[in-house]
Amino acid sequence: MNPLLSYSKGTSGGKQKWIPKTAEEGERRAFFSCLCDTVLNRSFQGLNDGKALLFVLINPDIHTPGGLVLRTGSESEIKNRKDRYPQFILCEDSNQSLYSQLLCGLVQRDAIVNVGTFFASGLLRIIKFFEEHWQEMSSNIRTGQMSAWITDPNCKRAVSLILSKQMPDLADSIDLICQEKSWEGIIKKIWPRTKYVMAIITGSMAQYIPALEFYTGGLPVVSPVYGSSEAFFGINMKPLCSPYDVSYTFIPNMAYYEFLPIDNHQDPTCTNRKDAHLKDHIVDLANVKIGQHYELLVTTFTGLYRYRMGDIVLVTGFHNSTPQFKFGQRTNVVLSIHTDKTTEQDLQKAVAMAIQILEPLGFFLLDYSSYADTSSIPGHYVLFWELQLRSNDDIPELDQVKMEKCCSLVEQSLDQKYKLLRNQSISTIGPLEIRVVKQGTFNVLMDFYVSQGTSLNQYKTPKNIKSEKAIEILDSRVVGKFYSREVPNQDS
Ligand code: AMP
Repeated sequence: MNPLLSYSKGTSGGKQKWIPKTAEEGERRAFFSCLCDTVLNRSFQGLNDGKALLFVLINPDIHTPGGLVLRTGSESEIKNRKDRYPQFILCEDSNQSLYSQLLCGLVQRDAIVNVGTFFASGLLRIIKFFEEHWQEMSSNIRTGQMSAWITDPNCKRAVSLILSKQMPDLADSIDLICQEKSWEGIIKKIWPRTKYVMAIITGSMAQYIPALEFYTGGLPVVSPVYGSSEAFFGINMKPLCSPYDVSYTFIPNMAYYEFLPIDNHQDPTCTNRKDAHLKDHIVDLANVKIGQHYELLVTTFTGLYRYRMGDIVLVTGFHNSTPQFKFGQRTNVVLSIHTDKTTEQDLQKAVAMAIQILEPLGFFLLDYSSYADTSSIPGHYVLFWELQLRSNDDIPELDQVKMEKCCSLVEQSLDQKYKLLRNQSISTIGPLEIRVVKQGTFNVLMDFYVSQGTSLNQYKTPKNIKSEKAIEILDSRVVGKFYSREVPNQDS
């Protein structure tokens, strides 16, 4: 039976939501998924001649005091579809589950034609897990015996169907690939028939594009849908386009969509204007205009009325006469001190600019987060960066001058309000700080949030860390602290 409530830790803002659901709603979602598959089949030949390796992770169901089942949207879909897909591995222990899924994917490496998961951040996490466990997996394949710590009956059953004999040749070929020092293009090397990698890579996930491109070795990365726990919105009709150019075509079968125009120069954080005045400006799907930004409102079959998603979309064109949108930005403020409000999008742009200083040295940014440190006066913004070298070498001692330049460039890329507050004679905001954390830190952070009830499938690294425990996790792994040495120039 379908659960009647779905929950989500929300977006990178991290606010938990409970959303009503019905059985019909589940069917509409299923229709959406079929539509996506149709588009993919049209773009890639031969998908039916192989298998998809789709990594899914589930949490235990939660029961409300009244007895309703609470599940995340992705979990509902998976659990409802499990009868149609007997090869699904449903196990609530994420380590055993991921290990078993990877092991099955390795044994069948020549059959796999596409690899994917829900969000790009999740796929990077899976690659890291593989990096930590490939030797053990290869030894399992060599001996035909699964590791003893895999005790979950679902995992054991699924793996034993696939790993039924010793396969030393396969183990040798996996060893050869994984022993290479750099893991550049590892997905293509391990699964040579893969035609594409599937993961959402737009919006806040765009920060992971360079890291994902590194591991996929030039395979197309397909960002198939734009959806949420509230409703699905659109599908990507051009799966082969660059991750930077993805537009979604709205499919109006799940909700009634309305759009609140946002002045292209307007501070998106001003969307907290009084609702009474807003309704005069709302337009429906048929009346949106190309080049205009809108905040998305949904009225759903399950009872939400003009619900503000908090997502900003930009109209980019039409597919036939259906509007297409680029995922714009989120209205959520991630950093705030005094009157400054820095949005997730502003921060992401600033970080993308600053990391260019380190790219020629072979670094890419695996993940980042931030918080406003107001424990001293004036308060200042702190960014946590996890860096990785393309060569896979350990991170060397970082060049102080270059790191300070990164701090200044982040500041320089933030908006005028920030620069003004930094420039005041008695400055209201202190120099921005970057704390570089050791490798694996953001995985530990993810584990922490998952232990607090976040679904691994829908996990998005919070960009505004509020939890003291989470800050403690990051702080205890800091390997270098750097501060901006320049006051940002207000004229640029
Ligand atoms: P959730 O309710 O946990 O599924 O999160 C839904 C949110 O994820 C949306 O409101 C978006 O902010 C984000 N999201 C979903 N799909 C995409 C996408 N294709 N690109 C960027 N962000 C997305």
